[in-house]
Amino acid sequence: MNPETSSFASVSELLHTLNPRKPVYCVYPHVYEQTARSFVGDFPGRVLYAVKANDDPLIIRLLNQGGVEHFDCASVPEIELVRENCPGATCYFMIPVALRGAAGEAFHDFDVRHFMVDDASRLDALASEIPLEQAVVFARMAVSHESAMMDLSSKFGAPPAEIPALLRKIVATGAEPALAFNVGTLVTDPGAYRHAIETAAEVLNALDFRLRLIDIGGGFPRSYPGFVSPPLEEFFSAVREAAAGLPMQDEGEIMAEPGRALSAPGLSAVVEVLLRKGRRLYLNDGMYGIFWELRFEGHQRFPVRAYRKGERLEGNPVSFRLFGPTCDASDVMPGEVELPSGIQAGDHLEFGNIGAYSLSGRTRFNGHYSDLIVEITSSAESPPKIEQA
Ligand SMILES: *Cc1c(COP(=O)(O)O)cnc(C)c1O
Repeated sequence: MNPETSSFASVSELLHTLNPRKPVYCVYPHVYEQTARSFVGDFPGRVLYAVKANDDPLIIRLLNQGGVEHFDCASVPEIELVRENCPGATCYFMIPVALRGAAGEAFHDFDVRHFMVDDASRLDALASEIPLEQAVVFARMAVSHESAMMDLSSKFGAPPAEIPALLRKIVATGAEPALAFNVGTLVTDPGAYRHAIETAAEVLNALDFRLRLIDIGGGFPRSYPGFVSPPLEEFFSAVREAAAGLPMQDEGEIMAEPGRALSAPGLSAVVEVLLRKGRRLYLNDGMYGIFWELRFEGHQRFPVRAYRKGERLEGNPVSFRLFGPTCDASDVMPGEVELPSGIQAGDHLEFGNIGAYSLSGRTRFNGHYSDLIVEITSSAESPPKIEQA
């Protein structure tokens, strides 16, 4: 954990106490724990948190306290981070490409037993680093669906027609074969999971052996202003129904790798308005900082509330364009944001639902970077959000 992490009952108390010049990222522990508890409780299978969505150690620990005991990692540093913060947790090395020696390090130093390939040539590399007969190896299958914000199968995954041969090669190494796929990220249609699971069922029906583990990936959405997704329960029902048709071993298990759905709701970013010019606000954080995910196609803004001198500011809402603090002209948020018409320099804005793909990718471009991460401890407080439809 950041040794300087401090706690405040509320964002008002934080602003009164620190009057921060830099952006402050607010972790709401009760929201993380509740988010974890409900996802783990409702998803029909084993839940792995995709660490890349937010690798802040405090957040990793809170998700673990909320019941997440499995972690989808893509590098040795991610595995090390999880092991340090959640000693009892299980890490999975779920990427079809890795640094030379990384699989061996994961196996021998961190007890990792689950690996992934999407090409038979990687099996030779794995065999040179780990005793494969003690490992589970997932064959990653390419599937996609038009409702995903980003098609993650354009980079990884073997075509479904090649999966049987790849699974047979995994069996021949002595490893336990398993199947994985990833529909995309910010998937808006539960049908995308149904489609992918049905594709998997067709592939697996043609085999003369049955798998124990099938990993349906991440992509479960959260809602943003102007980008409302169905509730997670609709996704879980689609998975439950489609998975009933999957040929698996009797003790078989479905796995999922949610990143956004677990990490988004519990974090907010408190930023300061540095300059107002008409309907343009210049903030102390931007597209090279906490808002970097907005450069991708998908949602365009976060739910927000305003503060003046530490107190909530209300007022007739009007639309503003929000600019970051750097020299770059592209450092501007794609979507306009509704704020009280009287907003002015020195006011603060709190953006909610911002825990996914935010802290983990901010840069030091132009010298702007904040490492002020605090806890908001009152369970009566929660970050700005829009209601899930
Ligand atoms: C990014 C990623 C995830 C998490 O995706 P979310 O959209 O954040 O749920 C899960 N699995 C794999 C393989 C990924 O690359």
